[in-house]
Amino acid sequence: MAPGALNSGDKGITPDSPFSGSRLPVSDIKIVGFESYGSDAMNPAGDYSAAHIRLLTNTDLTGHGISFTIGRGNDLCTAAARQIAERLVGKTLGELTESMGKTWRYLVSDSQLRWVGPEKGVMHLGLSACVNALWDLWGRYLNKPIWQLVSEMTPEEFVACIDFRYILDAITPEEAVALLKTQESTKGARIQEARKNRAVPAYTTQAGWLGFSDERMVELIKSNLAAGMDKFKLKVGGNLEDDKRRVKIARETIGYDRMLMLDANQVWSVPEAIEYMNAFLEFKPLFIEEPTSPDDILGHAAIRKALKPHGIGVATGEHCQNRVIFKQLLQAEAIDYCQVDACRLGGVNEVMAVLLMAKKFNVPIVPHSGGIGLNEYTQHLALLNYICVSGEKSLLEHINSFSEVLQHPVKTESGYFVTPWEAGYSVEYKPEAIAAYSFPTGSFWNSEQGMAIQNGPKA
Ligand SMILES: [Mg+2]
Repeated sequence: MAPGALNSGDKGITPDSPFSGSRLPVSDIKIVGFESYGSDAMNPAGDYSAAHIRLLTNTDLTGHGISFTIGRGNDLCTAAARQIAERLVGKTLGELTESMGKTWRYLVSDSQLRWVGPEKGVMHLGLSACVNALWDLWGRYLNKPIWQLVSEMTPEEFVACIDFRYILDAITPEEAVALLKTQESTKGARIQEARKNRAVPAYTTQAGWLGFSDERMVELIKSNLAAGMDKFKLKVGGNLEDDKRRVKIARETIGYDRMLMLDANQVWSVPEAIEYMNAFLEFKPLFIEEPTSPDDILGHAAIRKALKPHGIGVATGEHCQNRVIFKQLLQAEAIDYCQVDACRLGGVNEVMAVLLMAKKFNVPIVPHSGGIGLNEYTQHLALLNYICVSGEKSLLEHINSFSEVLQHPVKTESGYFVTPWEAGYSVEYKPEAIAAYSFPTGSFWNSEQGMAIQNGPKA
């Protein structure tokens, strides 16, 4: 196949245009025979990448946004983002941020696009790129990181960012304001912890990809422990005997006094999830993440009920398509950990809605960061959740693979995230990365590695 043939619809899009589909290089490793970053039970050919948008203005300010997906999925997300962004063109930042809740409703109300949603799937991933770019632009204009921008809002201003339609049976704006007010008097102390880089504890997934050898996994666990990272998550959901061996080795390397979590990436049916988890009871995982279909609210509730006597929790969220699914998961007592995703949900606004519901239902937030650029977003979400909403520290997934393409990649120090202070939402690619990896025009795609990805199996 000729270079670019996968994405001929994007011809003419250049890195300098407002919307450039960029596919960053990654899990081609499977093809050339090395390690598979991003590999799990459901995604053997990861190919970390993102749909990328830049909102251009009549000043030198630019808003940067991404929506994470993998490989060819970006062709669809880029098309969705381009359609939705049309609704922003011609409006002022003042108009758009005066009532962010109304702006969000406006962005999801294009009737022709709504028919291919509504508020879910590809359209929602495209929406998140646009909404997150708008927040980035707002943060840059105010010269504040997003977590700080939100932390300085009054409870009423916070609540005005949210579209409460569809969640009023779980939480009302009045309840939300009252809930936020309970956190006001102690907010200052939590901001101080953020200043000291002790507000967001980290766990790592980077030792536990399914495509890693046992030796590589042990080596990475040890190097993480040496660096002060002492909480781990492992992918499971492959062959049961292989999973048991890997989890046993990992647990013995980590020790039973430290945190270990498991992630099945939706690969099991409900009965399988319950049965398979019996094999891991002795290794004392804190939770099983995505044990089954992300849409199966009652299925998650059944798994949770079965695992509860064993002290194993159920976590999900990275594929929860909107605040309605989260509402029902919470109402059905189906989850122990709420894993909001900065791009799966429709940007900061919808995440704020879920944070409030999780607080009301007393379920801790553990944001999902498993994708390039996602961690740069989720560090803000974990901070604003801790400072404004929950008052409890959010355990946050740490992924920094390929972060060299970002202007301000996340940093950790002694097992905590280092609080970001750059203005905006922290997801801006380096110009040289845009030039090299924009798909299909970037120089990378004509390289041997890029060609191997394009011509590789569609697994
Ligand atoms: Mg996961």
